[in-house]
Amino acid sequence: MTGDAAIGELKKKVKAGEEWDVVIIGGGATGLGAALEAATRGYKTLLVEQADFAKSTSSKSTKLVHGGVRYLAQGDVALVREASIERGLLTKNAPHLVHNTSFVIPAYSLWDSIMYTVGLKLYDWMAGRLSLGRSRHISKRETLKRLPTLSPARLSAGILYHDGQFDDSRLAINLVQTIAEQGGLVLNYMKVTGLEKNSKGKIIKVKLQDVENNDTHHVMTRGVINATGVFADDVLRMDNPGARHSIAASQGVHWCWTATFYPATMR
Ligand SMILES: Cc1cc2nc3c(=O)[nH]c(=O)nc-3n(C[C@H](O)[C@H](O)[C@H](O)COP(=O)(O)OP(=O)(O)OC[C@H]3O[C@@H](n4cnc5c(N)ncnc54)[C@H](O)[C@@H]3O)c2cc1C
Repeated sequence: MTGDAAIGELKKKVKAGEEWDVVIIGGGATGLGAALEAATRGYKTLLVEQADFAKSTSSKSTKLVHGGVRYLAQGDVALVREASIERGLLTKNAPHLVHNTSFVIPAYSLWDSIMYTVGLKLYDWMAGRLSLGRSRHISKRETLKRLPTLSPARLSAGILYHDGQFDDSRLAINLVQTIAEQGGLVLNYMKVTGLEKNSKGKIIKVKLQDVENNDTHHVMTRGVINATGVFADDVLRMDNPGARHSIAASQGVHWCWTATFYPATMR
């Protein structure tokens, strides 16, 4: 349930003294994923987001649903296998949001060519039947045709491989709809401003503030998930005011060359 109906439901449940199994704070990718898991497993689930869903980092990503290709270079095979399977499942479950994109890695030596070709063949193989397409070695000519702004000077060849690209904020909205369908209560413009504990120090209530009209609500819960991303320390301090900073905010930039990013006139 979402929107005004969800606020009505919240008030009704609070008045009846109902308890949630879990309150999830934060309506970005992490919170929505956690809420989907909880609701589909039959837990009474409440998710609250202080602004629009996916308002923060989750609508500002590079929008790649990748199989973890960069973790391959770090040797984290288990993570690549898991990410490749997740990528494949997302492609199957949400074909309206995910599409196959081809990428080209330029190679500047024979060693580059061999290393990337072998690595990306391994990447294909790890995805098994959920692979998005076979990677292949391409000539210098084809590399320049696909990436015309590359300097040809030291270029020797290229390796083309496939990964997924997705609409991150739209996926978030579809997750909200699915959580609601599964019986979860999902509220945005509802900010967590405090946590209340019992005599044993266990969190039993979450204080919510309706950002639109300043109404406050106290909801009872058996558990809380802090999925507030870069804001996680603020919530952590509601639990433990002396908690040390655990997050250092940084800005990230992803720069990627893809064969499909180019408008037709540049090909
Ligand atoms: C430049 C960049 C590129 C990226 N590219 C990719 C990519 O291509 N593919 C990929 O898979 N990942 C990518 N990522 C990573 C991905 O975007 C993040 O891991 C993900 O969005 C984090 O989601 P989150 O839910 O943890 O945090 P957020 O999206 O920040 O969500 C936290 C939410 O908590 C809410 N909140 C905070 N405090 C409160 C409160 N007191 N009460 C209620 N709500 C509160 C906030 O409003 C916010 O909406 C990229 C990240 C960056 C920075």
